[in-house]
Amino acid sequence: MIIKPRTLHYKLEFLLMLSRRLKPSHPSYSLLQEALTIELAGWKGEKELDYPLSHLPNDHLILHNVRLHDGTHYFQNDCIILTRKWILLIEAKNIAGHLFYDQTKDQLIRTTETGMKEGFNNPVTQVLRHKRQLQKWLSNNQLPDTLPIHCLVSNSHPRCVSSFDDPTLNIVTRTYSLPEKIKTLPHNPNSMSSKDLKKLSSSLVKLDTPLKPDFFEQYNIRESDILPGAYCDHCHSLSIHKKYNRWECATCKKVDKEAHVQALKDYVLIHGSLISNAKLRRFLRMSCPKAAHRLMVSLQLKTSGETKGRVYHLPFHQKF
Ligand SMILES: [Zn+2]
Repeated sequence: MIIKPRTLHYKLEFLLMLSRRLKPSHPSYSLLQEALTIELAGWKGEKELDYPLSHLPNDHLILHNVRLHDGTHYFQNDCIILTRKWILLIEAKNIAGHLFYDQTKDQLIRTTETGMKEGFNNPVTQVLRHKRQLQKWLSNNQLPDTLPIHCLVSNSHPRCVSSFDDPTLNIVTRTYSLPEKIKTLPHNPNSMSSKDLKKLSSSLVKLDTPLKPDFFEQYNIRESDILPGAYCDHCHSLSIHKKYNRWECATCKKVDKEAHVQALKDYVLIHGSLISNAKLRRFLRMSCPKAAHRLMVSLQLKTSGETKGRVYHLPFHQKF
């Protein structure tokens, strides 16, 4: 049973917004494209968990993307599964190629089909560190800590072959084998009560703290570096304009009735959730205040202030 569904990471949302709107001449543009490629691969790895995990019994409580504070550091778990017998942490990956888990030197070495070697941080070390942090978090929050915490590194890429220098390492698996692997996890003879399990699961949801760093500062981006307009996902331009009751792309002529919704989600990431009629017109490149007002009314937005000082509250994620 999914207790906490997966939602798009703030970083991925932000990078996707920038891929639509950052001026390509910006000095950080190529760096951001690289970061987006890495985030998308990670996201794909996490999404690939869905099908195998749907085979688990209903009493397995699944929580995606939980970020907790252990008293000193934050730690982000791709997936936590709770049962009355054990807790499982899954680190999801989507890496192709021949993967050598070098436990001696604590690194993951990938050799591609062309023979190129590349090093990564060892996901085994990462998930085992998360285990220690979760133990600390349980103790800090006076939650029952008698259950064993198991760890798995799960790679969803169909073209990956793994090898290890430590033959006893048995926590790396293919994502599609997860249900079978999970069945083999050792059980604690003393199971947790259903009440305690519910308490633990609620605490994980309640104390989840999604990461929302200031990417403007991190990548040296000014608000003026961001292009306005509604985005056309057909020809990848910001050429969609309001035409009567619909949105039409000036470049490819595609009609998209909902083009304003994604644009306003982007607006929240850039400017925050409050928007005035004038700001909306500037961002969506509309000229008519009445049409902008009608659009706000159709979205049934909460308002505050009167007449010229009126602002609308966009119901999407808040800016940090
Ligand atoms: Zn278009």
